[in-house]
Amino acid sequence: MSTSKDLEFKVLADAFEAMERITSRTQLTLLMVRLLKQTPPEVVDKVVYLIQGKLGPDWKGYPELGVGEKMLVLAIASAYKVSASQVEKLYKSLGDLGSAAEKLALKYRSQRRPMGLEAFMGGGEEKLTVTRVYNTLLRVAMATGEGSRDLKLRLVAGLLTEASPKEAKYIVRFIEGKLRLGVGDATILDALAIAFGGGAHAREVIERAYNLRADLGSIARIVMEQGVEALKDVKPQVGVPVRPMLAERHNDPAEILRKVGGRGLVEYKYDGERGQIHKDGDKIYIFSRRLENITHMYPDVVEIARKYIRAEKAIIEGEIVAIDPDTMELRPFQELMRRKRKHEIHKAMREVPVAVFLFDALYKDGEDLTMKPLPVRRKYLEEMIQATETWMPTPYIITSDPEELNKFFLKAIEDGAEGVMVKAIHDQSIYRAGARGWLWIKFKRDYKSEMIDTVDLVVVGGFYGKGRRGGKIGTLLMAAYDPKTDTFKTVCKVGSGFTDEDLDRMEEILGPYRIPHKHPRVESKVEPDVWFAPAKVAEIIGAELTLSPMHTCCLGKVKPGVGISIRFPRFIRWRDDKNPEDATTEEELLEMYKRQLRKVEEEQAPT
Ligand code: ATP
Repeated sequence: MSTSKDLEFKVLADAFEAMERITSRTQLTLLMVRLLKQTPPEVVDKVVYLIQGKLGPDWKGYPELGVGEKMLVLAIASAYKVSASQVEKLYKSLGDLGSAAEKLALKYRSQRRPMGLEAFMGGGEEKLTVTRVYNTLLRVAMATGEGSRDLKLRLVAGLLTEASPKEAKYIVRFIEGKLRLGVGDATILDALAIAFGGGAHAREVIERAYNLRADLGSIARIVMEQGVEALKDVKPQVGVPVRPMLAERHNDPAEILRKVGGRGLVEYKYDGERGQIHKDGDKIYIFSRRLENITHMYPDVVEIARKYIRAEKAIIEGEIVAIDPDTMELRPFQELMRRKRKHEIHKAMREVPVAVFLFDALYKDGEDLTMKPLPVRRKYLEEMIQATETWMPTPYIITSDPEELNKFFLKAIEDGAEGVMVKAIHDQSIYRAGARGWLWIKFKRDYKSEMIDTVDLVVVGGFYGKGRRGGKIGTLLMAAYDPKTDTFKTVCKVGSGFTDEDLDRMEEILGPYRIPHKHPRVESKVEPDVWFAPAKVAEIIGAELTLSPMHTCCLGKVKPGVGISIRFPRFIRWRDDKNPEDATTEEELLEMYKRQLRKVEEEQAPT
């Protein structure tokens, strides 16, 4: 039934009909096999997309068809020379616009050609092909701007006039987005293996190719035109997303290390958006975790990637994270989302600056890196990337010590990350595209807590700012008071919440307390740029209290070797009415932390 390089749309409509009736997955696969075998390679990609109810892979970002129910009713009415209310009435009684179109098409044809059965069945006319239907739908989707409504309407009505009743039914359902045939990627992969690979054993090769190039239509075409063997050589292709490697989850440091083979590479699990960055000469594409093309959302990342990837063609991966450009501190995911919601992207770009932490390299100038172990890929990455303040390979540690892993985890949380990623580094530590497995393990907290009250802390040190705040003190080292030992113990670094005026006055306010070394009443593991005598008190709020290996407040009181800190701390105001000895005490912070834990436990307890 294939007309040289095309396929009659009737074959597809028949397959749609059969698929609707089928109840078993095996039957569905076999039906797909039969359909694929009838399909010429030139149109197999279109057949694959249409079956999945789309015009192409999601990442191609084709616009929606833009034909709402009302417009569709008008198109049906115009195609079959009836009134819109007639269409609507039938739609109401049948409950499905596709069936309404089918009925009206039948009537229209019988009225127009009352003579013979042949004409009635649509014979004698030019047959609708897959290409004709696909191209018309594509034109519908692409029509934008003035006059596009009319054009869409005309195109759809024209298509329906040419279609047989059954074809009309499925065209309408496709346009409505109601062609729910339930044919997932897996069914198509199975069918391709059986139809052209000689059986289910070919599935693995086909699937791997698909994982490397997430375009099922084009993979189907390669299989048909060149055979499964050709797929073994498929490499990632710049401009076509690679399906991302995903992590399993575990919460026990010792067990995590065991699972990755005793020793692992540990880096922060940044709380942002995954970006798969493709470079093709001057052209940059960014794909999301779900393989959407998100390039337009990150013009700043595009510019940096264009400049600072040392390769003609490359595919690398990283996490795009909102940051405070003055302190380079990580900001929560919600802040990045503000950028996504904004329409004026350049404004959003200024309001929500980002940094990119790169963690993998998948392809470089003709070389597929995905089968190389992680340490080799990291080496490629590090050689390929020219780092800047906001664009760098992720810092990491390599460890086999659960205690060290745990400390790094606590530090990650304190620094605003979600936790850590622990990655295998042995010989088999390949990039498993499209798979979730134990080569990568995410270690996150299994609870979420909230800081309810503010605290009053004492300034004991300062750090010079970066960027806009270059050369000025922009971040303060804050401490709680311990009346038992009469010392000040550090809790956190605060770099957020200051107004421009606060920053301008910082020198004036703190200058008088500057000292050349740590004050004897201060206990600190952190080494700031400048030390201050404990004098000024500030009110601070944060997201939550958290354990920290960096700070001395409550050191060892909850767990050996770690203290208590504040995550995402913000300055609220100076408390000039308080002396340093009136600040929140170590004991109070410990109580607050315990209360927070109890609250989490209560919330998690089964009711
Ligand atoms: P989650 O809901 O935990 O984000 P997920 O299902 O989106 O999970 P996972 O495989 O569970 O994906 O976690 C990996 C995700 O973590 C990646 O998709 C990436 O966006 C993010 N991520 C942050 N930092 C890293 C890192 N250093 N290495 C790998 N992925 C990272």
